[in-house]
Amino acid sequence: MYLADFHLHSNFSDGKFSIPALVDYYGKRGFGAIAITDHFCEQTSLIGRASTYLGVTLTTATFPIYRELLKSEQERAWDQYGMCLIPGVEITKNSILNHRSAHFLVLGNLENIDPNLDISELSDRVRPEGALVIAAHPVSTQKIEKQTFHLWDRREELAPKVDAWEVASGPYLFDEVRYSGLPMIANSDFHSEKNMTSWKTLLSCEKKQEAVLQAIKKQQLDFQFYREETVREPSYSTLPWIMGPQLGHYGMGNVASLQAISK
Ligand code: ZN
Ligand code: ZN
Repeated sequence: MYLADFHLHSNFSDGKFSIPALVDYYGKRGFGAIAITDHFCEQTSLIGRASTYLGVTLTTATFPIYRELLKSEQERAWDQYGMCLIPGVEITKNSILNHRSAHFLVLGNLENIDPNLDISELSDRVRPEGALVIAAHPVSTQKIEKQTFHLWDRREELAPKVDAWEVASGPYLFDEVRYSGLPMIANSDFHSEKNMTSWKTLLSCEKKQEAVLQAIKKQQLDFQFYREETVREPSYSTLPWIMGPQLGHYGMGNVASLQAISK
């Protein structure tokens, strides 16, 4: 079994680390598979265009450079750490309204990405080419930040187009997703070290892109809480009232397996 995390941001969007630094950070911690998924904002909205101006999103100019760097780092991740690096992107549709905002990940094949397409259109385009589509933080993240509820509002209609829904994004498990019967995945939404203490996905398949994507699709996975000991406690520890009941209950010791808890 090995740890995996499929939602990481680099400094191609709003993350703190470069792509090589992310590979080293996760490689040194023994992760078996990661996906780097920088924001690619749709350009049809004012907020999306503003994000381009602020340099916190991939653009049509930087996207090809991003893809090339991921390719070369894919080889290095394997050679140096035996870690599978999956190319990804977070299609980012922000509105001032939480119920109109949607973030989703495309993992595995970035050949035909257009951030202006909606999830249904893009799913029809990329999934036949072997990519997966993941609904990112679809319910309340229990943090004081922008929320994205549009996909969850449409979950029945979108279920056939989405391979997995995040059941955790950082330190909180989302009970709505957990008990929904929908396929799940746990990720950190890593932007900097403070996001490392988080639920992660556990896999036991071969550390090859195709095997990893299949395991997600077939839901041959488990979840584990990972605590990063080398950095200061994340800021939620000073805000106990927004922690929610789950972490306090499950967070015994360094790791807690969801499988162990639910059986
Ligand atoms: Zn997001
Ligand atoms: Zn993200």
